[in-house]
Amino acid sequence: MIARVLDGLKIRDEIFAELKEEVRQLNGAGVRPGLAAVLVGENPASQLYVKSKIAACEQIGLASWLHTPPASITTQELLAIVDGLNRDNNVDGILVQLPLPAQVDAKSILEAVDPAKDVDGFHPVNLGRLVSGRPGLVACTPAGCMEILRRSNTVIEGANAVVLGRSDIVGKPMALLLMHANATVTICHSKTRDLPEIVRHADIVVAAMGKAGFVQADWIKPAAAGKPGATVIDVGTNTVKNPVQAEQLLRNFAARMEKFRAKGTVLVGDVHPDAVNTAGALTPVPGGVGPMTITMLMSNTVKAARLRRATPQFAGPSTAAAR
Ligand code: NAP
Repeated sequence: MIARVLDGLKIRDEIFAELKEEVRQLNGAGVRPGLAAVLVGENPASQLYVKSKIAACEQIGLASWLHTPPASITTQELLAIVDGLNRDNNVDGILVQLPLPAQVDAKSILEAVDPAKDVDGFHPVNLGRLVSGRPGLVACTPAGCMEILRRSNTVIEGANAVVLGRSDIVGKPMALLLMHANATVTICHSKTRDLPEIVRHADIVVAAMGKAGFVQADWIKPAAAGKPGATVIDVGTNTVKNPVQAEQLLRNFAARMEKFRAKGTVLVGDVHPDAVNTAGALTPVPGGVGPMTITMLMSNTVKAARLRRATPQFAGPSTAAAR
């Protein structure tokens, strides 16, 4: 049986439509939500990410500002920029694009961002709120994974959920979100013993390891006795260039292998593509979790604007930004 594909692009479009409407209502109340991005230096990958984030702001009607200090900036100078953005009432969200140059103390920069404007959800205050189940701004990638689960009607309450990876930006917040949604959560990492056996018991698998095709298809619980197979959320984004590895991963996907031969690279998740034959549902790579990260950045910016600036009439919208 072929798994149901959980289409991140479709969910992004749904959420963008909801956010546009919420922005329209906020505009009506005299609030134009806005995101300020700080892009240090000229790292091409970072430039591309920030460009997509600014384009998304334009798409849903948010104001945006881009600050581009040179790669030689000091921690003190960057702290001064962040301080200015914290004080600017028009700025609802502050995004400091990572990585920062080696001479900059990244931790102190992230901690200097006003938690009310911390739309990346990295500030310890927001992490603390997440741990204690209080409302706050949640890291975008795990928040996006939860939106995919909810909007695809995956049963989370009571489910056995296995999170592969324990990073501060994906694995840990993901595990907390699943636990608060009443899943029974197991967190795995590089020292976990007998990973295949743990994954086999999972109703929901979230893979965030950064290891191309590591999770094998036969680790995923298949459909049985009228119950659907496991739901797989594949956060991994790995660029494979080695032809032998590509052949091993794409042996059952002739069209993708053909594209690899033409291009010399392919983007693969942490779950082996063959899992499409065992899982009940799964996010594709690309086109699954990837588009959700920017989507939730937009959602967090609208949420930050509503919480910080809007009148009580906006206390309870029904969109992703409400969560
Ligand atoms: P990370 O900080 O490198 O963390 C990787 C985690 O995986 C660590 O906790 C590590 O365990 C664990 N791990 C590594 N090898 C393992 C193994 N053999 N068995 C079990 N666990 C293992 O990575 P990250 O930032 O969380 O990102 C993970 C992946 O998600 C990457 O591919 C990244 O590119 C992708 N990502 C995608 C998006 C998106 O928008 N789609 C956003 C963020 C990240 P230890 O703690 O023991 O080292």
